[in-house]
Amino acid sequence: MTLPAQTPMMAQYQALKAEAQDCLLFYRMGDFFEMFFEDARIAAACLDIALTARGEHEGDKVPMCGVPVHAATGYLQRLIKAGHRVAIAEQIETPEGAKKARGSKALVARAIVRVVTAGTLTEEALLDTRAANWCAAVGEAGGGIVVAAADVSTGRFELFEADAGALGAVLARLDPAEVVVSEASPHADAATVLRPRGEFDSSRGEERLKALFGVATLDGFGQFSRAALAAAGGLIAYLDHTAKGALPFLRPPRITASSASMAIDAATRESLELTQSVGGVRKGSLVDAVDRTVTGAGARLLAADIAAPLMDRTAIDARLDAVQRFHDDPAMRDAVRQALRTLPDIGRALGRLAAGRGSPRDLGQLRDGLDAAWHLGERLGRMAAPPPLLVELAPQLRGHGALIDLLKRALVPTPPIETAQGNYIAEGYDAALDDLRATGAGGRRAIAALEAEYRKRTGIAALKVRHNGVLGYHIEVPARAADALMAEGSGFTHRQTLAGVVRFNAADLHDAALKVTQAGSHALAAEAAHLEDLTAAALDRRLAIAETADALARIDVAAALAERAAEGGWARPVLVDHACFDVEGGRHPVVEDAIARTGGRFVANDCSLSAASRLWLVTGPNMGGKSTFLRQNALIAVLAQAGSYVPAARAKLGLVDRLFSRVGASDNLARGRSTFMVEMVETAAILAQATPDSFVILDEVGRGTSTYDGLAIAWAVVEAIHEDNRCRCLFATHYHELTRLAERCEALSLHHVRAREWKGDLVLLHEVADGPADRSYGLAVARLAGMPPATVQRAKAVLAKLEAGRASTGGLAAGLDDLPLFAAAMQVEEAAGDPLRDALEALEIDALSPRDALDALYRLKDIA
Ligand code: ADP
Repeated sequence: MTLPAQTPMMAQYQALKAEAQDCLLFYRMGDFFEMFFEDARIAAACLDIALTARGEHEGDKVPMCGVPVHAATGYLQRLIKAGHRVAIAEQIETPEGAKKARGSKALVARAIVRVVTAGTLTEEALLDTRAANWCAAVGEAGGGIVVAAADVSTGRFELFEADAGALGAVLARLDPAEVVVSEASPHADAATVLRPRGEFDSSRGEERLKALFGVATLDGFGQFSRAALAAAGGLIAYLDHTAKGALPFLRPPRITASSASMAIDAATRESLELTQSVGGVRKGSLVDAVDRTVTGAGARLLAADIAAPLMDRTAIDARLDAVQRFHDDPAMRDAVRQALRTLPDIGRALGRLAAGRGSPRDLGQLRDGLDAAWHLGERLGRMAAPPPLLVELAPQLRGHGALIDLLKRALVPTPPIETAQGNYIAEGYDAALDDLRATGAGGRRAIAALEAEYRKRTGIAALKVRHNGVLGYHIEVPARAADALMAEGSGFTHRQTLAGVVRFNAADLHDAALKVTQAGSHALAAEAAHLEDLTAAALDRRLAIAETADALARIDVAAALAERAAEGGWARPVLVDHACFDVEGGRHPVVEDAIARTGGRFVANDCSLSAASRLWLVTGPNMGGKSTFLRQNALIAVLAQAGSYVPAARAKLGLVDRLFSRVGASDNLARGRSTFMVEMVETAAILAQATPDSFVILDEVGRGTSTYDGLAIAWAVVEAIHEDNRCRCLFATHYHELTRLAERCEALSLHHVRAREWKGDLVLLHEVADGPADRSYGLAVARLAGMPPATVQRAKAVLAKLEAGRASTGGLAAGLDDLPLFAAAMQVEEAAGDPLRDALEALEIDALSPRDALDALYRLKDIA
């Protein structure tokens, strides 16, 4: 094809490209999706396919590349992964139709039928089974901020209340594939998708929600703030835009207040590696170490639970009761997990059917999934003394009897994804379809009989009746034997001569073939009609099916957590309503796994924080286990409030409202940020936000700067946390000088990780003990790390000098003991000007009579 300037095709392409805006445009031409101009350059580079040039536009060759339609999914996947969005322009009429309607030279009409974006996928091949796929929109109105999020692969639709400070945390929790904001929003950045401002209008949002769910009022779904309406409206408008009017299945939205879950900001999530490890992958994360789920939906729910630990003790205990039931009954647990293991992902099958991209296989998955759910429901119904959560879930597993029955009768045992060949509707479901199939089969038998007869008649043993898309049924003989059939009156009509073979037709074959193809196409049409009806029957029940999918996922999570707990000897945490944190024999699940793999043994450690002793200062040698100890306790809080057993012998804790984890800058160096700045910004956020119910771990804060600066900052931060935030806090430091704070901060206690020098070697015991570390083992660690003996020797000599200096001057922190605790606050006030102080300073005491002195005292008291 050529693409000269201003051809009708170019005009059509340009119009579609304008509509596609910043998306790549897949332009359908026959069996290919073609891309042109800049799109072609981008796609060719990303997909590693050939970039060619066709025709001319404004004097230049037009760059072009293309991908075959049948393989488009794989290419789409790579483009989406690379961060692109793709608009798909299909031919919306056949070339014949175009000619009939608008003459022989008419261009086939095309239209964008869908915009494929990372946040709006439903295809199995494009999605990760074990991760949710959120598309989020940020709505702002009336001073509020709400994040609306939809996972169109399962129909989940949630609204999260946030405020400007919590927006980052909400988005970090969801980790959406795509974030959509109004083009006028201050939260727009390079990673967000910008949409017209009008789409985020709250009253239009309300109309959109009402229309979507066919209701006159939203009251049945809860209370919607204007920001919630704006966010939901913006999200629905975007989904509508990408699906080009065919809105995917969305369930009624659930509104979650930000106070419903533990607040965990993005930096803390990253540092604790809750759902992703440092490399941005699931492996090595907490979720990965905990996850024993056997279904994709279970894995998605577990990740969501861990990303948003609960703040409601009743709800946490309900989850824990279910876990305990499965923990204490291994036989029941095994049976349930075995049943779940074979279960297809009905949530996503439903999502595809609702999006109009469903296949017979999806219906088959619903049939098998719902059937298995029914049996599981029966089993759970028979459970003795079931915990309330399971009592609530069991009925949701049943109740699709009629649909299961229909699908069982209608579908073959393993229905295909492709419909083109038919054969997915079962025999016996539709008598007319059975007849058509019998006719077709009869015709094929007749054709086989004809083949035998032709062989006999011509005496050519190599004669065959074949079928292809161009000729249909035909007779094929080797070229050397063709003469007999060519002869006049042979009854055969010549159709085609190829290199080695010649092809013929015959009247009786033609008649038999016609029967077969007619019956075949009628049968295909009948099957397609059934597929449509069955899909409609399934979608009629979509809310109930989605609930069943949820219930299955919740049961999978409970049984999986029980499995994990049994495997690791974990304990059920006890949640209380005062701010304590009492863990006996705590372990770090990820580090423990890693150590176990190399044959080592993890040393369990206790941690006990309370109102009277809420700040632990942990010192000790590098590599001694300080970070691990800090993190394991933070992870225990997360797991407990997510409703999981915890890796400890015993654990009792008061609910944590906000969790913070910060690591001193040098650990972040690899990530190439302005590290000290980041460290300080993040520490400032903790001081501003931590409450007495919060839990904070600070690992080597202050390390990212010079020794004096670092010590000074660490000192001030510890004081502030102790005096102002009054939260539970574990603070690891190598500044031995900080241990002096123990004398002045009554709720601060000193702890260290133990180490011992043995025959000149350092042995790290990874054991947390009371009191400060007796010395620094830096040189021993250096030797352990393989530093040359001569260098270690030299360092020893330098250290001796330094230590002698310290003894005579009082050391790095000399004089700090005299610094009043509230010095900082007083200095700040002083700078602001203080009338009492001014008046005091104005008094000339030597010149006062006793009487004047008394008057002055009264005046001062008035000022105060
Ligand atoms: P630090 O923060 O004191 O430098 P880390 O917590 O990073 O030390 O621990 C260093 C290494 O020691 C870990 O990677 C792990 O292999 C091992 N380790 C830490 N804690 C323990 C423990 N409780 N039991 C066994 N090994 C541990």
